[in-house]
Amino acid sequence: MFLDVDGCLLEHACAPHLARVPPQLPSRLLRLAEELDGALALVSGRSLQSLQALFPECAELCLSGMHGLERRSAHASLRAPAPPESMLELAGEAARFALDYPGACVEAHGPCLNLHWRAAPDAAVAMGAFADAALTRLPGYRQHRGAHGIEIRPDGMDKGRAIAELLALAPFRGRTPVFAGDDPADEPGFAMVNAHGGISVLVGARADSAARHRLDDPAQVRAWLGADAQDH
Ligand SMILES: [Mg+2]
Repeated sequence: MFLDVDGCLLEHACAPHLARVPPQLPSRLLRLAEELDGALALVSGRSLQSLQALFPECAELCLSGMHGLERRSAHASLRAPAPPESMLELAGEAARFALDYPGACVEAHGPCLNLHWRAAPDAAVAMGAFADAALTRLPGYRQHRGAHGIEIRPDGMDKGRAIAELLALAPFRGRTPVFAGDDPADEPGFAMVNAHGGISVLVGARADSAARHRLDDPAQVRAWLGADAQDH
């Protein structure tokens, strides 16, 4: 079982560091992982550090961070590649640039740079232009645009590949994959589980999704997982 975090397990917050984890969720994820003989992973665009901070109780859980660029796994951990020099410069420039747009937020972790404007919609155009200019200084990188942000990351890595790499490892190998996610960045993951005869679940509504099943929102996802016992 592969689960996206923001917009799937958790309601989207104005900025990633403001996301709230419902009290019943960590223990339910741990129990579910046990029921699945360990074959449960969070598959997120967040860094491992950020995922660990969100779920400090879940030290045993398999985590795939930054769309698979890094992984915490009992069987094969993976460290994110070092960022190029230009990424370090751009992260500083982006942080200064975002100060002009209160509510906008920049996350720089290793080789990835994420620009968020959920709480500052007027920043969308300028942040798009910033991303276009940034890419000219980041050979081998791509930008992935969503409704409320842009992710800039090394080309060739996505949640489909993240899931495929996990499916090659114990305890996932040979199992029927399930993946739930909400974002266009989750589409390669849906395609990958479909190709493996698995179950793809879109959270929310989107017309062009490859997912074959749908849940309305994170509350429904948590109910599906049995994590809503005392949740509202
Ligand atoms: Mg998501």
